[in-house]
Amino acid sequence: MADLGLEINANYLAVRGVDLAERVLIDRRIGFDSVQAGASRAVGELTRLAGEAITELERAGTRLAGIGVAVPGIVDVPSGTVRYAPNLLWQDVPIAEGRLLRGSDGFSGEIGHIPVDPYGQTCGCGRSGCLETKIGLATAVRAAAPDMAGTSRDPEEQARVLLQRVEAGHPQALAGLDEIGRWLGIGISIAVNMLNPGTTVLGGYFATVAPYVVPTAMRELRSRAIAGEAAICPITASAFGFTADLLEAAAQRSTHYEHLDQLALEHLLGI
Ligand SMILES: [Zn+2]
Repeated sequence: MADLGLEINANYLAVRGVDLAERVLIDRRIGFDSVQAGASRAVGELTRLAGEAITELERAGTRLAGIGVAVPGIVDVPSGTVRYAPNLLWQDVPIAEGRLLRGSDGFSGEIGHIPVDPYGQTCGCGRSGCLETKIGLATAVRAAAPDMAGTSRDPEEQARVLLQRVEAGHPQALAGLDEIGRWLGIGISIAVNMLNPGTTVLGGYFATVAPYVVPTAMRELRSRAIAGEAAICPITASAFGFTADLLEAAAQRSTHYEHLDQLALEHLLGI
């Protein structure tokens, strides 16, 4: 279990994850002009950082206990509204109105097991044609670097090889990742049409190969978003990527990740 502390300041945003033994699991700060950006963009950026941090905590097997937000100003705690923050020039910003969508029994978020091809391959979950069968790392390797398929290489190394091959212009690797990007966009469009997230953050191997899958995914998303351009959210690679230091202790666990739960819909605050 870990608590997440978020901080908005005039010239930076910060996120810190601390477990119950007060060990710091995540400590990240980025320069950000919250005055110039305004409340909406600053909260959006903080939401992105928080979403990435939550994803990494969950990947490391750490459950989120709670989230606190520190703002330099006068806060109406019951409503979660910043009444006045003079250094930020903010007034009446409802910063805590968002909430994590867990579902009535806490089982929401299994986007990787949305059936996108009912007659497709059997998924690891035993069902057929889950999104994960279209875009999981094993599928990407089969499509883009089949000579690596079936080997027991570390997923991070597999992602690195994929990246090396697309960077070198290997036609099969480019075509394979383009197809992955297409299905990724289809999956994200389902989530966007249902949840209208502010941002989609990619972790795991997607973060490594993002430049080669995101453009295609964005094209697919644009063609499938019911609400059109207004609902299109950016698809970004997690700043934590595949190699976050905090995951060292969880390396054994993370080596088994091929799942789409590496894709975190950022529905923490800004949905
Ligand atoms: Zn499945």
